[in-house]
Amino acid sequence: MSSLPRRDAMNAAATSAAVAALAVLALASSRGEEGSTMRTPRGIDRDLGKLTPGFRRRVERVLARMQARGFDAVVWEAWRSPERAAKLAAKGTGIALSMHTLGIAVDIISRKNRWDAGPEFWQALGEEYEREGIVWGGRWRSGDNPHGQGVTVAQQGIARAATREQLEMMTA
Ligand SMILES: [Zn+2]
Repeated sequence: MSSLPRRDAMNAAATSAAVAALAVLALASSRGEEGSTMRTPRGIDRDLGKLTPGFRRRVERVLARMQARGFDAVVWEAWRSPERAAKLAAKGTGIALSMHTLGIAVDIISRKNRWDAGPEFWQALGEEYEREGIVWGGRWRSGDNPHGQGVTVAQQGIARAATREQLEMMTA
């Protein structure tokens, strides 16, 4: 940053302050409406506090930027228990050793339209994930549009064997 002209540095600081403020608003609004339109089914955990700190910060910026772009993005699921992951795997709608169980994956959907968010929503979400260096499931053959994770598919094996501290470093 020190090599940037002073005005650019100030703009960058102003932008990150604005994004941080939006993140607070996005979280406040998702909390406020949780009880009504976004009832959380049993077993589904939306608590960003169970994600690694670095991954959480990036997810908060994605939510803030989606809101700033006029998209009603909300977290559907964050951390997932190994029991729930095993159940989903048995149904064929997930994998047992999901990155969700490590606290380094999140699913974001539209508050109003849920999984029928439409191509513009998914395109914007993919852009914002990737801007934060988050791997977007929308690029996979499975087309998992809501899904974003902190490591690449090639790194998943390493992530599964990693300690919590190592995971935090991998997703810092
Ligand atoms: Zn997911």
